[in-house]
Amino acid sequence: MRHSPPGGLTLGPVKASPQSQLRLLELADLDAELARLDHRRRGLPEVAELIHLEARSSELKDALVVTETELGDLGREQTRAERDVDQVRTRIDRDRARLDAGQVSAARELATLQSEIESLRRRQGDLEEIVLELMERREGLVSRQDELSAERDRLGIETAEMTARRDAAVKEIDEQTAKASDQRAGVAAEVPADLLKLYEQIRDSRGVGAAALRAGRCEGCHLTMNTVDLNQIRASAPDEVIRCEECRRILVRTPESGL
Ligand SMILES: [Zn+2]
Repeated sequence: MRHSPPGGLTLGPVKASPQSQLRLLELADLDAELARLDHRRRGLPEVAELIHLEARSSELKDALVVTETELGDLGREQTRAERDVDQVRTRIDRDRARLDAGQVSAARELATLQSEIESLRRRQGDLEEIVLELMERREGLVSRQDELSAERDRLGIETAEMTARRDAAVKEIDEQTAKASDQRAGVAAEVPADLLKLYEQIRDSRGVGAAALRAGRCEGCHLTMNTVDLNQIRASAPDEVIRCEECRRILVRTPESGL
């Protein structure tokens, strides 16, 4: 039967020995430990760092693709310019050969040929300049590619180290979680079923299921009990399960309760 005394402390229908109630404090400690481990696992700095490293790695990959594409375009442009230079050179050689062989004797034809050679030489000079420019741009791109590749390699090493550190941290958390879970199962097995059910219900809705009453204060929400409440608790049988009126946790009486 449930009744709410004037003091405001709700006494539940569940009754349990003081020893069983004390076990709830162990359970609450282990639940807090498990929650702390879960929080640590979610907030591992290595996980955030790995996300950052992966983002940078993806940026580098894109930049390398762009550089490789530019190098390919430049290579084709250079080949074309070199072929043009060769063609002009061939024509100059052919014209010169005709001149040297004395095949051209008419003054007008001679002048035309000489002027063609001159203009071909200018064209050759322009084209060679273009080839030089392309070669310089190529050098710049190759050194950029080298820098990007070197950073990618460094990033690869850093990512591998960070992954190992994350895995080690997760392994440690897993081990501690398994240990705390085992301990929790052992303690829970010693708590009567109805008391455990009540504890779990409160824990599901409040996050924590039980707290100690220490020096007249609820350790869960730090509410200090008034004299009426304390008198009510003093008058309660040891097997009454008391709940804090403020935070609704099961309030476990201990030798330090100040009763
Ligand atoms: Zn409380």
